[in-house]
Amino acid sequence: MTRGRPFRRVLVANRGEIAVRVVRGCRAAGLESVAVFSEVDRGARHVALADDAVEIGPAPAKESYLSIPKLLAAAKSAACDAVHPGYGFLSENAEFARAVEVAGLVWIGPPPEAMEAMGSKIASRARMTAAGVPVVPGALITASGTFEEILSLGLPVVVKASAGGGGKGMRVVSSASELSEAIASCRREAAAAFGDSTVYVEKYLEKPRHVEVQVFGDHHGTVVAIGERECSLQRRHQKVVEECPSPAVTPGLRARLAKAAVDAAKAVGYVNAGTVEFLLAPSGDFYFLEMNTRLQVEHPVTEEAFGVDLVLLQLAVAAGQALPPLPSSPSRHAIEVRVYAEDPEAGFLPQAGRVLLYREPAGPGVRVESGLVEGQDVGVYYDPLLAKIVASGGTREEARRRLVAALAETVILGVSTNVAWLRRLLETKEVAAGEIHTGLLESLVVPAAPPPPDEAYAAAAVALSRAPGAAGGGAPAFADPFDGLFRAGGGA
Ligand code: ADP
Repeated sequence: MTRGRPFRRVLVANRGEIAVRVVRGCRAAGLESVAVFSEVDRGARHVALADDAVEIGPAPAKESYLSIPKLLAAAKSAACDAVHPGYGFLSENAEFARAVEVAGLVWIGPPPEAMEAMGSKIASRARMTAAGVPVVPGALITASGTFEEILSLGLPVVVKASAGGGGKGMRVVSSASELSEAIASCRREAAAAFGDSTVYVEKYLEKPRHVEVQVFGDHHGTVVAIGERECSLQRRHQKVVEECPSPAVTPGLRARLAKAAVDAAKAVGYVNAGTVEFLLAPSGDFYFLEMNTRLQVEHPVTEEAFGVDLVLLQLAVAAGQALPPLPSSPSRHAIEVRVYAEDPEAGFLPQAGRVLLYREPAGPGVRVESGLVEGQDVGVYYDPLLAKIVASGGTREEARRRLVAALAETVILGVSTNVAWLRRLLETKEVAAGEIHTGLLESLVVPAAPPPPDEAYAAAAVALSRAPGAAGGGAPAFADPFDGLFRAGGGA
């Protein structure tokens, strides 16, 4: 089986905004795209946008988006010759990548061997150490039951699941007496989430930044870094705001990070898009955290700052083309926020509901990545990420102001979101100054939302009564799109 060969019709094995992004990339590359959808996603935006679409089963992801046999059958029935996994779902599943290749299709992602090498945090740390890439000091849990080695790291430490992701299982421990319970509960959570209860311990760094490097490899032995992203604004170890470049990274540090990331990728024979995550200490030292062997949620900030199209590069590399020359430093600044169906006033509780009205922002330097449509039910079966709003500018401040303005223009009615909270977050003096670290959001006081003026309620009520499908049969706000057609066609 040859890796890196041309293809023409891509199965997009995902949903939501990332499926929309990949479908657009395929179209721009002159390729056909085939969407997949579960029963509840029949009316979804990615389905409408793709050239063709195949239903793959009931709403629960295990029976649809996570089912390897169903995805392979869809690829076959729609005559696809390649598969793009997006992010999440099966994107980091080496078994899926291998099954795609065995079925004779092109896998638009890294070789399954590289995915496996980076899939275990314990094994990847060992490999990185051997490759000369600095890792966070850590310790394995010994069978003896003594915690000597762990405690010699110095408290606080963090207990992590080796198979981890999404911050699951992670426990920060500040006193020796909490250690054994933290290990036990991390094990339980890891077993439930990943089917693997292996855990280990790392030194917990104080006030680090999360800085990650975009890497890209091709089938001709080239591996390059395309700058870094700053992702320090996190809630419960999950990214909320990302930007490129990092306000803390100088050209010299960028070059050192790039070298470490390229060494990391080369050590596992990496091809296609990947991200090497580091923690950057206030001292300027940085440590390998993990590698994500896929396109990252926050890839648009790199695209905007560097003027590259990472999805087009993924398609080109998977087709066997050599990487073109790419810039090594950014020419603009870009910031992205993740819009979630959640209620910031109620402890960020995930929200479910029907989107009754949806208005995307626009304007110079504003980019929206969204899979949302009016009338859609959100928050029940899948990730609560509704959309990503990205703004770019010649300076960080220009990008930040554009993003604040874009959020002010964003309207999502029918389900609570974090849009207004994000806007206030971007206006805090810490975020405005770029003085951020991974623990900031735990302590930062984001000012409470002022109550909306009465006129806002009135405007929302009018808008909702006019929304298509609004209860009570309000006057239609939009002209019937078929009206002119019928008249012109003479009673079709
Ligand atoms: P996951 O794979 O579950 O996402 P990561 O290892 O990527 O876990 O870490 C996620 C986040 O948790 C990091 O971005 C950082 O904010 C925090 N974190 C992880 N390890 C450490 C550490 N050793 N010291 C301080 N913070 C850490």
